[in-house]
Amino acid sequence: MKRMVLFGSAGWIPSHSRETMCVLVELGPNLFVMDAGSGMRRFKSRIGSALLSRHDTISIFLSHYHLDHIIGISYLPLNFTGKRVIIYAPESGLEGERPEQILGRLFDAPLFFPLSGFPCKVEIRAIREGEHRIDGVRVEVRPQSHTVPSVAYRIEDLLYYATDRRPTDELVQHASGVQVLLHDASFDAEDFAGITDPEQLQKELWGHSTAQNAARLAKEAGVGQLGLVHLSPDMKEDEYPALLEKARSIFPDTFLPKEGRWISL
Ligand SMILES: [Zn+2]
Ligand SMILES: [Zn+2]
Repeated sequence: MKRMVLFGSAGWIPSHSRETMCVLVELGPNLFVMDAGSGMRRFKSRIGSALLSRHDTISIFLSHYHLDHIIGISYLPLNFTGKRVIIYAPESGLEGERPEQILGRLFDAPLFFPLSGFPCKVEIRAIREGEHRIDGVRVEVRPQSHTVPSVAYRIEDLLYYATDRRPTDELVQHASGVQVLLHDASFDAEDFAGITDPEQLQKELWGHSTAQNAARLAKEAGVGQLGLVHLSPDMKEDEYPALLEKARSIFPDTFLPKEGRWISL
């Protein structure tokens, strides 16, 4: 069984309809979770409970340490009692501080309590850029440009997970031919049409990508499908289809993920 379900697809803060980034990939006996945003709360849903009844070990892969991607780690005590949780945390681009130290700043008194006090067994493993085999699955880690160090993950030829990134071109090679590309689509390029100064534009995009740029990269990389993620919580649910159409005019096989729906891989 190879499939995925998005528990979170929004950027920055949860909206009325979407949680922040959290994508579950179930590959036979493995349950991989891409980012631990507020979507982690959906482990309380029917799908989430069923997954937890099937999997004793859950591997979480963090793209970076911004709060909207790690806040869901604080929900583990509610849902994951007795489970083994391995957090793969990037060390690409970090200097002098280990992932466990970075996470330890938040998960310690007085902000929270330490991961060692959780009712599940939490292990943090630093993961470097390059190719890895994790529980028999090929996982490629690629650094990407954001306001802080961030990485993309390629899971076999099934998924390329690329959120919180500027739309730089190395993705074309790294995501080449992948079945599904989930890409940062935080903004609509048309909202920035009047900005001619590239520096000003970079500032306004906050290290993110537009849906149009995501579509251009998907087309150049020859992926099967593009899913737009890290959607702006400033947009209402009925405004996303217009954004989708703009991306589809560049790359027709683009979709807007619905949270809580299985997607076959
Ligand atoms: Zn984010
Ligand atoms: Zn970020």
